[in-house]
Amino acid sequence: MKIFAKACDKTFSLAFLMALSLCHAVLAASAFADTDTSVTQVAMLGTGTPNPFPERSGPGVAVVVNNEAYLVDFGPGIVRRAASLSPEYGGDIAGLAVEKLNHAFLTHLHSDHSVGLPDLLLTSWVAGRDRPLKLFGPEGTASMAENIIAAYEEDIRYRLYSDQPANNQGWRIATTEVTETGVIFKDKNVTVEAFRVPHGSWPDAWGYRFTTPDKVIVVSGDTAPSERLLEYAKDADILIHEVYSLEGFKKKKPRWQKYHAGNHTSTHELGELAAKARPKLLVLYHQLLWGRTSARCP
Ligand SMILES: [Zn+2]
Ligand SMILES: [Zn+2]
Repeated sequence: MKIFAKACDKTFSLAFLMALSLCHAVLAASAFADTDTSVTQVAMLGTGTPNPFPERSGPGVAVVVNNEAYLVDFGPGIVRRAASLSPEYGGDIAGLAVEKLNHAFLTHLHSDHSVGLPDLLLTSWVAGRDRPLKLFGPEGTASMAENIIAAYEEDIRYRLYSDQPANNQGWRIATTEVTETGVIFKDKNVTVEAFRVPHGSWPDAWGYRFTTPDKVIVVSGDTAPSERLLEYAKDADILIHEVYSLEGFKKKKPRWQKYHAGNHTSTHELGELAAKARPKLLVLYHQLLWGRTSARCP
């Protein structure tokens, strides 16, 4: 997939931004790299919003490095979308095998980003994950994790003590709550930095930057236009950013216009931000289109 942010240079029109809309697309970093030696792949597992559009799963992004997946958010459908790209189900991203989903980074606690957590935890355990899910997220993530385990206590007990007992590690969650901007995780594949983003009245909403051996990838989460994000996204290889249609926005009632302006980023605002940040590739997700459709610029 060869989509370059520089295609429309400074004037990122609405049409151009919508042309970049991707639904469940897989972006292999090598698709736009100069060589085929890239080790990083990015998969859009869900580009939707709280609205249950049948053709879009809830927000979910996978950064895959050396066959290890690092998820950002886990909206509805996360596990099935990952499975669809794994070799077992005809895909070619080995790191998205369900039992290999070991790491997840939550941007904020809105349900459209987090309601897939029990699926992510339990389905991957049943599929064979034999270690605790490493989970990073804002304050409140640990409580969410504990309560989900409590909610599924009977299922967990059954699977542990049935005739075919599951392993006694994969149902657990090792949670780290993110409290400060900076590096929150590092291993041989990625360095993950968290930075605060403005998302309405949420005290804790985070964007993440992944630095891999060959790529820098920034994921916005839900955010109004953010100078901090611009700083982190400067010259990134891939910027994955939420967006709403300004044309659709104009038809909204004033109270909803106020809400969305404080919580999200319009097509034009994103165009301005992307023209300053100049990522090599801009991917739009969490798209609020309100009846507008994708179209290519002439
Ligand atoms: Zn959202
Ligand atoms: Zn949100």
